Amino acid sequence: MTEKPRILYVEDNFMNRMLVKRLLEAHGYNVLEAEDGLSGIKMAQEELPDLILMDINIPGMDGFEATTKLKSIEGLKDTPIVALTAKAMDGDREMALIAGCDGYIPKPIDVDTLPGLIQDFLAGKREIVAVTEERVYLREYSQKLVDRLQEKIEELTKANEELRHTDEMKSRFISIAAHELRTPLTLIQGYLSMLIQSGGEATYQLDDNVLKIIEGITKGSERLHTIVEEMLDVTRIESGTLKLHLGPVSLKDVITAVVRKLKPFAEERRQEIIVADLSGMPPVKGDAGKLLQVFMNLLGNSIKYTPDGGRISFSVKVLEAGEVLAPHVRSAGRGEFIEVIVEDTGVGIAEEDQERIFKRFYEVKDPSLHSTSKTSFMGGGLGLGLPTARGIVEAHGGWVWVESEGYDEEKCPGSRFHVLLPVAAKAVETLSDQL
Ligand code: ADP
Repeated sequence: MTEKPRILYVEDNFMNRMLVKRLLEAHGYNVLEAEDGLSGIKMAQEELPDLILMDINIPGMDGFEATTKLKSIEGLKDTPIVALTAKAMDGDREMALIAGCDGYIPKPIDVDTLPGLIQDFLAGKREIVAVTEERVYLREYSQKLVDRLQEKIEELTKANEELRHTDEMKSRFISIAAHELRTPLTLIQGYLSMLIQSGGEATYQLDDNVLKIIEGITKGSERLHTIVEEMLDVTRIESGTLKLHLGPVSLKDVITAVVRKLKPFAEERRQEIIVADLSGMPPVKGDAGKLLQVFMNLLGNSIKYTPDGGRISFSVKVLEAGEVLAPHVRSAGRGEFIEVIVEDTGVGIAEEDQERIFKRFYEVKDPSLHSTSKTSFMGGGLGLGLPTARGIVEAHGGWVWVESEGYDEEKCPGSRFHVLLPVAAKAVETLSDQL
């Protein structure tokens, strides 16, 4: 049995599609459907139909443009494309042929003749424009294309402006929300510390159970405080108002402090944290508090995205001036840099997400499965940790990026975050002076 010829019908009107589909299927054709030009092109490339029926007035890319595109695709060059459209104005037929169509069938459809016409085109029938008319219509068609291009560019520019405005409003909202949250939070934290202090000073004796509850509230409010600060940092980074208090910072001290803070959480998850020998590393030029925040985020993430029993390691190397530093760092040659690598045996990150995770609010996981937790396995956050980390490191004149073989919850290929920070020039001088 020979296979049924496959016809792709590109048409936005559902009723028309159904009518033609029924008619042609009754005559032994297989009919595929697409609702607009772009999906028609995609489907044609995937399905390689024997013939394409193209409505001209379809949303987005119109039938003329879709046809021109289809005729430029290897594998579809010889596929007959027949315009099937309501006659709008004189010259429509010629325009369709100039655009690349092999035939033109005006609507309304004549159910008696359509199957036969299609059979003719499948058998090799091709309509052409008279040579004398070709030039006129070609010029008209290219003019039409340029008009459409201009229209689309104007639409895109407007849409971009609107997006920028929405993005600005979002940033403003985050900033206002964070400030509004900070005021009552400061109050809560103040009262909590008064409670604890007066309890300690035995102004009144606090019951152990009450103390535990207060500790719980304190922990919660500290977490909230971190989130609020993260929100504020992101808006400061965006507006370029992040202030750094720069000085020589010992990365050894920063990393030791971060590991000390988060070790209990790693231990809960039976994870091992290995820190390479950091003595002898020159200090970096940085803001100690902000760098602490960067490494808290990276280690926190490694704990979160590494299954129980995994391993996380910190290693450091000094890069000489002029060495190729990183895929994204253009400033090679400016001076010495220190590179810190935080490596884990976690779920890893898919190649296409490796840049996106540094964008605000980007979470790889489905947000509907979101569970907020700082350290539990796969517990999500606001998606602000890495953008903040990159913003802070960038403000230091450095860069942060990630390498991973991909995402796999079973095989756990792990991730390697690299942080590049400039060595403190003054500190280097002092060191070399001593030699
Ligand atoms: P979140 O608050 O969601 O952790 P981040 O900005 O810190 O936000 O991270 C963004 C996303 O990057 C995370 O949701 C996670 O999917 C991915 N990610 C970050 N660190 C790691 C890691 N060490 N291993 C695997 N995925 C990670």
